[in-house]
Amino acid sequence: MAKNALLWYKRTMKPTDPERQQAHAALLVAHDIAVAALAGGVEAILAAVGACHQSADRLWGDARAAGSDPAAEAACAAGCGWCCHQPVEASTVEVLAIAARLRIHPDIAALRARLGAWSGGRICPFLTNGTCAIYSFRPLKCRGLYQPDPRWCMATFAKIDPPEDGSPICHRAFTLPRTLFDAVGQGLTRPLHRAGLDCAALDFAPALKAVLDRPDAAAAWARGDALFPDRVRFHGWIERDFSL
Ligand code: SF4
Repeated sequence: MAKNALLWYKRTMKPTDPERQQAHAALLVAHDIAVAALAGGVEAILAAVGACHQSADRLWGDARAAGSDPAAEAACAAGCGWCCHQPVEASTVEVLAIAARLRIHPDIAALRARLGAWSGGRICPFLTNGTCAIYSFRPLKCRGLYQPDPRWCMATFAKIDPPEDGSPICHRAFTLPRTLFDAVGQGLTRPLHRAGLDCAALDFAPALKAVLDRPDAAAAWARGDALFPDRVRFHGWIERDFSL
């Protein structure tokens, strides 16, 4: 496997011009949802995260059905979780919304135990037999990752030598899904950040662990309390340009 696979990945993930148009439209959809939610208080803001997840899935489904991206050929399917062998970035508001969903999940005891037993490392605590235990409300970053060859993910994310089957590993990256889901994340957080709310990028699993047993976490975040320890912060909020 190429030594600089991640560097290659970053370089090839630049959106094309048609993708930028779709990203701009996706950003506006999420932006409108977030602006409307701001008027409704913290519960409405948490609900906006789920609405943005659904909108992103729908936009990506539409793009896929229209055949505007070759990701129709993506190898991604239940049972393949090689991409879940890496730290996942999620915004503060996504972490808070997912924590709220988890607290009312029928399997909360088992999920809490998995998260509590997790002590770091590449494998996400919610990966179970190649399947995501929180699939319906997983973060945007997880939703936007599609690859044509699971051997690439195995080598790049899990750091495991893939099996030799005689065919070359496909290094092609699908940029549209990642661009669309990133644009929705930007559309969701931009108005919140501008309203003074902390919208930093967090390390998903440890950030979730920090707030899961704090039902008051979202209210504290809305008040401006320093909720997340520095060790779970990847970086502050960054405005990304999805304009045309
Ligand atoms: S939250 Fe789910 S999809 Fe995301 S890394 Fe964890 S197991 Fe994978």
